[in-house]
Amino acid sequence: MEDKEKTVGQQLADKLVYKSKSCFEAADKQAVADYCEGYKKFLDNGKTEREVVKESIAIIESQGYKPYILGDKLERGGKYYLNNRGKSLFMFRIGSESIENGIRITASHIDSPRVDFKPRPVYEDSEMCFFKTHYYGGIKKYQWTAIPLSLHGVISKRDGDVDVRIGEEDDEPVFYINDLPPHLSQLQNSKPSSNTIEGEQLNILAGSEPYDDDKVSDRFKLNLLAALNEKYGCTEADLISSELCAVPAMKARDIGFDRSLIGSYGHDDRVCAYPSITAMLASESSPHTLMNIIADKEEIGSEGVSGMQCRILSDIIDEIALALGGNPRVVRANSKCLSADVNVAYDPNFPEVFEKRNTAFLNHGVVLSKYTGARGKSGTSDASAEFVGFVTRLFDDENVVWQMAELGKVDLGGGGTVAKFIAENNIDVIDLGVPVISMHAPYEVVAKNDVYMTHKAILAFYK
Ligand code: MN
Ligand code: MN
Repeated sequence: MEDKEKTVGQQLADKLVYKSKSCFEAADKQAVADYCEGYKKFLDNGKTEREVVKESIAIIESQGYKPYILGDKLERGGKYYLNNRGKSLFMFRIGSESIENGIRITASHIDSPRVDFKPRPVYEDSEMCFFKTHYYGGIKKYQWTAIPLSLHGVISKRDGDVDVRIGEEDDEPVFYINDLPPHLSQLQNSKPSSNTIEGEQLNILAGSEPYDDDKVSDRFKLNLLAALNEKYGCTEADLISSELCAVPAMKARDIGFDRSLIGSYGHDDRVCAYPSITAMLASESSPHTLMNIIADKEEIGSEGVSGMQCRILSDIIDEIALALGGNPRVVRANSKCLSADVNVAYDPNFPEVFEKRNTAFLNHGVVLSKYTGARGKSGTSDASAEFVGFVTRLFDDENVVWQMAELGKVDLGGGGTVAKFIAENNIDVIDLGVPVISMHAPYEVVAKNDVYMTHKAILAFYK
């Protein structure tokens, strides 16, 4: 309808009323589909923070990024990455403008909820052998039973460290956590779902064959240890110095006849890590100094040396500032950050937990969250109106489809991100990411449009 055919009221509504936009009105379908093929490969190649760091280094090295350690020389125009203990990665590119204009930073995380091994995992019971576990991050424990699991991680031994990755290839065995049949679940069903599977029941089934020597005891455990020794050269003592975990042995797949969605383990938060890398690589002509962080330990509070609470970010900024003759405090004060993490997508099967006017919808583009937190915004950095305005105007100018949302109804839940740890450095920060269905489940769902739009959003911020 032409403007002249519209009533005064209709014209006024067009001008005054905010409408969220669907990506189907804006994005190039083929470009979206092509982009997401790369994302699916990224998902399948890297299922843990260690694996994502490795594959990310391979991607950025092919584009000229060079390894850097604190204290190395830095040059204008240089492209560097700091590999933090194989678990988190800081990639940065020194721009042409004054470093005191600040750094454009994106921070996502590459750890996902999973089931970690205990330090003394191996045992046998009733002629079966198992690994004891301690789950990592916020999981619904019952969702992790009765699905194929793969094992990932590293065993640190006196004669060298060995990587573990088994259960991903079709000809490899997978692992499993038992559950009860419905026929025997009367007692289990009477418990709240948070307790239908207890933490100490998340034991990973790993064999049922005895070692072929009836002179020894614990033959089932011995058979498993013998298999581990044959494959990885390790003993039970070596497992004490290991980091092993189980994740779903499922590949990323398109969902639905229209193939508009992707199902995968660990979209949270590789669905932001991947666009942050592709956007960085596509920003070669930006005058800004750019930094891209893919962090570890977000799912357990960003603790530890590989989490965003570690002062390494501040140290790297100091080094960049000093190398380019800038004052590190000024550089920090003028830096800006997108904390790239997923949000919850509205789910019509569970309308009771959402406040529809302030919730993210699939296919409505990248989600901005002014604040996260819980119970009266506790534990959030709460971006300023000015910074929200800066970011949204940037996106509008580059035709980025975006939506603003919070996570569910007030006082019903909530969550946190790395944003508040970035803000501690005197850096303006806002949360942004992809809306997810079934977040933290073994298999999560996102819309391809939103993945692509996140790439475009970060690209606009880096430009
Ligand atoms: Mn996350
Ligand atoms: Mn999460």
